[in-house]
Amino acid sequence: MTDRVPVTYHCPRCGAVAELQRDPYLADQSVTPYPLAGWHYVGTDEDYESDDVDGVVLACGVDTRDEADGCGEPFYLSFVRFEAGRRVDPEPEPEHVELAGEGPPSPDGPDGPGGPGSFRG
Ligand SMILES: [Zn+2]
Repeated sequence: MTDRVPVTYHCPRCGAVAELQRDPYLADQSVTPYPLAGWHYVGTDEDYESDDVDGVVLACGVDTRDEADGCGEPFYLSFVRFEAGRRVDPEPEPEHVELAGEGPPSPDGPDGPGGPGSFRG
């Protein structure tokens, strides 16, 4: 498969430009700062054109063309989904997104074990 075309996407947070090699006939639904409920995302180094993939998670500042421009936050390219021949509309943006398993790394966890500020002894 060599007939993919470069498609550019803008980070919804900072506007940095990312480029993906896409099949030219696939339909994109939206680019959002959060994943849509029910969509299955993979990274840009995985096979995002696979049938069971609904979107791509891009790392701003890593997958973007100009790494210096990135805000460092992930953003989500969502493909149009069909179920039983009907287009699936995404739910309104949820207030809380629950990610099973892994979340974004937090550089400063509030309750790290054995922190320097421990007063118990
Ligand atoms: Zn960004």
